[in-house]
Amino acid sequence: MSNKNFETQAIRNQMDRSRYQEHSTPLYLTSSFVFEDAEEMRAAFSEEKERNIYSRFSNPNTTEFTDKVVQMEGAEAGYAFATGMAAVFSTFAALLSSGDHIVSARSVFGSTHTLFTKYFPKWQIETSYFDINKPEEIEPLITPATKILYAESPTNPGVDVIDLELLGNIAKKHNLLLVIDNCFATPYIQQPIKFGADLVIHSATKLMDGQGRVLGGVVVGKAELVREIYLFSRNTGPALSPFNAWVLSKSLETLAVRVEKHCENALKVAEYLEGHEKIEKVKYPFLVSHPQYEIAKKQMKLGGNIIAVEVKGGLEAGRNFLNALKMCSLSANLGDTRTIVTHPASTTHSKLSAEEQLAAGITPGLVRISVGLEHVEDIIQDIDDALEDGSQKSEVRN
Ligand SMILES: *Cc1c(COP(=O)(O)O)cnc(C)c1O
Repeated sequence: MSNKNFETQAIRNQMDRSRYQEHSTPLYLTSSFVFEDAEEMRAAFSEEKERNIYSRFSNPNTTEFTDKVVQMEGAEAGYAFATGMAAVFSTFAALLSSGDHIVSARSVFGSTHTLFTKYFPKWQIETSYFDINKPEEIEPLITPATKILYAESPTNPGVDVIDLELLGNIAKKHNLLLVIDNCFATPYIQQPIKFGADLVIHSATKLMDGQGRVLGGVVVGKAELVREIYLFSRNTGPALSPFNAWVLSKSLETLAVRVEKHCENALKVAEYLEGHEKIEKVKYPFLVSHPQYEIAKKQMKLGGNIIAVEVKGGLEAGRNFLNALKMCSLSANLGDTRTIVTHPASTTHSKLSAEEQLAAGITPGLVRISVGLEHVEDIIQDIDDALEDGSQKSEVRN
């Protein structure tokens, strides 16, 4: 199937049928797999023969899901995790040693930031940060101890965009591993390996599932690096469950159509908000007003489904807007069929100090909108009503 288009691969790249000749992939809820004899078991454990042994190592459903993401990202190999954070943590833990150094964009997912600032220093792994809008800051931060260059693009929650080709060139020049969290874009929109990334991480919880049902994560990239991550994970246990893998693999069959529609809706919502008198600022990668619009156009097929909005009036106005929404959900997730609105400063990024928040572009009035798949007129109507009547808390929510 490797010569087929993205959509076809997502649908047709499935595991071999069982003797029942099922059309849709069956779910293999089994902890372990059986062997014919002692010799077969020995060969499997010594890796002479590639096969499933135990579902912490691999399972047909997790393999099917991982293989699809490997193909979508143009990678060599991959491993699937119970959550996106398990994928992020295991990648660093497997590849770094005490004394190693990370250079990361300052603006990263809240829990990733907490790993860098609170946990990795316990193992003498330090992180230096660059401003995503000032890539010239990157090279001076690199030391002989630097091993990994890390970024997300677009970023959460500021939807800043960083030039992946530039990062790829810096990583190559200094012999660093480039690791990209590609969660906001999905491989349908952007494939960081093309620009020189060694590893690509996803929280599959977001657009990959896309229906707000399961948690999952995945790392794909160079085979020798994935092997280290696999060995670490097989011994520490952050594996994705077969059930969640089954759900996620099914979801990938519709990734292209869902992402197309998410992005079409998001662009319309962003254009509507840009002209609104109650809105101070709108940031969306495919709006010409986005500071990195040119870079976004170069490396992304579509603008994604996340919009960062600054409501006029700061913190109070932002919170009133959230309270006045009748249809859009207040929820911690993103990339769902349902439009979700959050206030990062008081939720996902509340563990950052006020200075850290500002440095990461999280102003008090910043609102993040994950545009869903409801009819775009209904999304805009709900937002419009809430902006008009930002002081009244609705009683009934769906
Ligand atoms: C949600 C998210 C994660 C973490 O994923 P979980 O599945 O919630 O553990 C990591 N990176 C980004 C950019 C995310 O949005």
